[in-house]
Amino acid sequence: MYMTRKGILFIISGPSGVGKGTIKKAVLPRVGDLLESISATTRKPRINEEHGREYFFLTEEEFKTWIQQDKFIEWANVYSNMYGTPREFVIKKLEQGKDVLLEIDIQGALQVKATMPEGVFIFIAPPAIEDLVDRLCNRDQDSPESIAARLAASEKEMSYMPLYDYVVVNDDLEDAVTKTEAIIIAERCKISNLNMG
Ligand code: ADP
Ligand code: 5GP
Repeated sequence: MYMTRKGILFIISGPSGVGKGTIKKAVLPRVGDLLESISATTRKPRINEEHGREYFFLTEEEFKTWIQQDKFIEWANVYSNMYGTPREFVIKKLEQGKDVLLEIDIQGALQVKATMPEGVFIFIAPPAIEDLVDRLCNRDQDSPESIAARLAASEKEMSYMPLYDYVVVNDDLEDAVTKTEAIIIAERCKISNLNMG
């Protein structure tokens, strides 16, 4: 083939409860050939979560060792737990020309932006802050204190939106998934992402 393509790093980020995970799950089968990076975390697995599938579940000590060994592209303390993106998988796949998706918090996305600015940064925004309250409560996975902390952080987090390449407002879910899919497809067609030979 005379045209091959570099691997593209897509980053989906936004405030907690905005619908990042929901959009990611719906988009992955629709776009195809997009590899999901599996993060490491010190949070305890939820029911139905498996080590190596949703996350690599590490102890705090193990996580700190990974930091010392420079095994993360980025890592952050998100609501009292550590989360990080393992470096090796992402770099290897991008080098092989494969596209990789990260679904990470805003602190992490800003770190990736600093070291891998060629990534495609997609900010998922709520229609209104009140929607975050409803969604976090309906998701029923966080304590009232944890929900309060997530909401308190969200105002500051919204101020980072201008650093991203795209914003998708997650009002109607199907509409948000279609927009995210369209961004990925368009980026894959960019001439600047081709290796012309
Ligand atoms: P995040 O990964 O950003 O923390 P989730 O994907 O877990 O958020 O979504 C939070 C909650 O909001 C879930 O219960 C999900 O089903 C719901 N949700 C996601 N998108 C929408 C939407 N467009 N409208 C209403 N509820 C939504
Ligand atoms: P949860 O514990 O609900 O799975 O995720 C909590 C938050 O951590 C979400 O906002 C999610 O995007 C974020 N997160 C998941 N993996 C990573 C990661 O590797 N790095 C960073 N910085 N955040 C992550």
